[in-house]
Amino acid sequence: MRKIRKGDTVQVITGEDKGIRGTVQRVIIGRRRDGTRDPNDVRVVVSGVNLVKKHQRRTPDVRTQYGIIEMEAPIHISNVALVCPKCDKPTRVGFRVFEDGTKARYCKRCGELID
Ligand SMILES: [Zn+2]
Repeated sequence: MRKIRKGDTVQVITGEDKGIRGTVQRVIIGRRRDGTRDPNDVRVVVSGVNLVKKHQRRTPDVRTQYGIIEMEAPIHISNVALVCPKCDKPTRVGFRVFEDGTKARYCKRCGELID
């Protein structure tokens, strides 16, 4: 079970965008050369964070934006912290295991379950 998931609100804790909050749009799990998942290479795309300018050619599809467009580039998951929906602060995440075997995340700051 991952600490940060799509749809979570996170805050950037290091780098140029430090302090910015956004929503996780995508979680990208890196792959090793043999195709297996690399748990140390997990990156996230966060709305409004790590914006890069991209030159997009005009395409036959009129729905595609063209010219210089800004888009979010992925950042490493270790550069963001989950924002607790209860105490509204960036926090570390712990896991609780219940008697029926299900797991849930909780905020290590205020102790509230996150989901
Ligand atoms: Zn909290």
